[in-house]
Amino acid sequence: MRVAMIGSGYVGLVSGACFADFGHHVVCIDVDQAKIDNLKAGIMPIYEPGLDELVATNVEAGRLRFTTDIADGMADAEAVFIAVGTPSRRGDGHADLSYVHAAARDIARQIRRFTVVVNKSTVPVGTGDVVEQIIRETAPDADFAVASNPEFLREGAAIGDFKRPDRIVIGVEDPRARAVLEELYRPLFLNEAPILVTGRRTSELIKYAANAFLAVKITFINEIADLCEKTGANVQQVARGIGLDKRIGPKFLNAGPGYGGSCFPKDTLALIRIAEEHETRLRIVEATVEANDRRKLAMGDKVIAACGGSVAGRTIAILGLTFKPETDDMRDAPSIDIINVLQAAGARIVAHDPEGENQARAILKDVEYRPDAYAAVEGADAAVIVTEWDEFRALDLARLKSLLAAPVIVDLRNIYRRDEMERHGFAYTAVGR
Ligand code: NAD
Repeated sequence: MRVAMIGSGYVGLVSGACFADFGHHVVCIDVDQAKIDNLKAGIMPIYEPGLDELVATNVEAGRLRFTTDIADGMADAEAVFIAVGTPSRRGDGHADLSYVHAAARDIARQIRRFTVVVNKSTVPVGTGDVVEQIIRETAPDADFAVASNPEFLREGAAIGDFKRPDRIVIGVEDPRARAVLEELYRPLFLNEAPILVTGRRTSELIKYAANAFLAVKITFINEIADLCEKTGANVQQVARGIGLDKRIGPKFLNAGPGYGGSCFPKDTLALIRIAEEHETRLRIVEATVEANDRRKLAMGDKVIAACGGSVAGRTIAILGLTFKPETDDMRDAPSIDIINVLQAAGARIVAHDPEGENQARAILKDVEYRPDAYAAVEGADAAVIVTEWDEFRALDLARLKSLLAAPVIVDLRNIYRRDEMERHGFAYTAVGR
């Protein structure tokens, strides 16, 4: 099939490259000229394992190309995906739909045949109706159907998630749209990926409900971790003890510094606003947002406590800045709040992140970047593991101790064993253990 992808960011680029890999012909479109120029030159706008090879292979095979010209990109498209950003609107937490609305207007002007317009961006319930209305007003004669197809990929594992999803959700009101989407995803039906076809509004809500549930699950175990610290229990064993219950499941029960990233913070806020607009309250989601905001700041205080109550004039080495490993995404990363708290308390910050440095430079002020973990800890008064990159999982502890000015380690991802740390003479602080 012929597919156009509006927006060549995380979701648009990964989805476009994967659809091309299934054998479809895909044009990825973006308004960002520099991004498109780079993609044409084989330079990826994001760090995502395996993406550069996947893009190169499919460009070479003639199934994937990039353009800023939507008329060219949509010329023969049977399906057009909207994969533009839906960030939090400043001030109120509503999803900012201005990019989606602009994309709908752009698409409307190019419809020349029956076209399925598929919303892959995460959007509030009813956005499909609005997109349909915008297209109808802009191009009254256009023959089209609007569908919802939320994306569940995880950054850092995006290609595997797209190709082997837990499920595919398709929200349609028009059987022609269902037929086109089923054909597009047919390679995955053959892999027996469960496909759920619903109404459009249900599909839109599934995405927010899934992200909110995961945010609740993480926040739950984080609060249990706080209780473990007060009671002498071990949160990793509690997580295993509850996770073996099939009704609960073992995933998303790693206690840590709080969730961040490009999705959970904005999607939980947007869901709360959607509920309010419909005169409903989602109290559990509201409590989750509040608990998570507090937690990220509390992690700064935890580091200060580990340093004996003050970090004024001290140097703190931060290992890992991105919101999770295997991505360079810094959006709403816990490291930002932690570093702000430490800097406000007078600390000097040195840091290392394997992939996130460029994005971090745009967000963090007065941070000194070092090329690896050992260089980061040299002369520091404490090392704080904020992101569980593989390269931090098996550090040479004797070397670490010899480089640090004080043997203080704060492990916010629980990747080390306390007995091992203590054997090496560290003052070791973990989460919920
Ligand atoms: P992104 O910011 O990485 O990419 C969006 C791209 O759209 C940008 O390159 C931007 O220049 C482009 N764009 C904006 N308006 C355009 C227009 N009118 N025409 C063409 N291009 C346009 O965003 P993302 O992380 O890919 O997220 C996109 C959507 O997918 C969001 O709604 C997000 O919530 C959702 N989502 C993201 C993830 C994730 O892990 N990042 C996962 C699932 C769902």
